[in-house]
Amino acid sequence: MQNRFIDSITQLPKPVATALIPLLNEDFCGHIDASQLATLVKASDMTEEALLLSLLPIAAALAKPSISEFYVGAIAKGESGDIYMGANFELASEALFHTVHAEQSAISHAWLNGEQKIVDIVVNFSPCGHCRQFINELVSGIDIKIHLPGQQPQLLAHYLPYAFGPKDLQVTKPLLSKSNIEFSLNSDDPMIIEAVDQAGLSYAPYTKNFAAVVIETKDGRTYCGRYAENAAFNPSMMPMQMALSNLIRHDRDYSDINRVVLIESSAGKVSLVNATMDTLQAVAAVELEHIVVDPS
Ligand SMILES: [Zn+2]
Repeated sequence: MQNRFIDSITQLPKPVATALIPLLNEDFCGHIDASQLATLVKASDMTEEALLLSLLPIAAALAKPSISEFYVGAIAKGESGDIYMGANFELASEALFHTVHAEQSAISHAWLNGEQKIVDIVVNFSPCGHCRQFINELVSGIDIKIHLPGQQPQLLAHYLPYAFGPKDLQVTKPLLSKSNIEFSLNSDDPMIIEAVDQAGLSYAPYTKNFAAVVIETKDGRTYCGRYAENAAFNPSMMPMQMALSNLIRHDRDYSDINRVVLIESSAGKVSLVNATMDTLQAVAAVELEHIVVDPS
């Protein structure tokens, strides 16, 4: 079991802890597939909702709240039946806008694994306004069920009345919709090929700046982040922040970072290069590889 779960595992009901420990191996990043979840539900003798609420200390243990030291854990359940944990992430000594919220971490975790719809979000504190707006960008966002400890589950519509969202800006394929933009780029560098593919899966209906970041660690593993825009702009999730929260969910250190690539579209109204360099220089002495690609 990874050291970061030593305290949180003691907060779980005993049968849940016993069934969960074998999953918490060194590769665990908070993804539990539908069959593993069914096994946990059975072992726990709880409802699925009660089980998910009981797992929140494990999700919160994925956090890196370097400034607030306030641990938030969230779990997004995808339409596939798999669950994806997420946690808050803050950049030590840097501006607060670099922060990734637990719900954003969990949702992006699900999206990076190919989920096209989220049905439930379970979180240990009431979602902040920023996260309510972020969730409202998702496919059927207003109908996502929010579960909080000690509260009846409620739809996002309850937490975000009179919502403003993608529909108000005539966006018909909201975040998590299946889409794939093709770019023309000749490269035999696997990391660049991966980043181009991920940029094609990004969500940028407002600026058309389809973009992704791939971080490679010294052992050759890669951690990706896609750009996820928001109708209200500010709750947008930058690909670099998404990639860093992915890296941290996998229990990797900034000192493991070897290369970082940002791919973005030449057809975008904005560029993420300055913002990405700003974040990167806060975590690693690595030069950003920036490649602008043409949609094909
Ligand atoms: Zn939030």
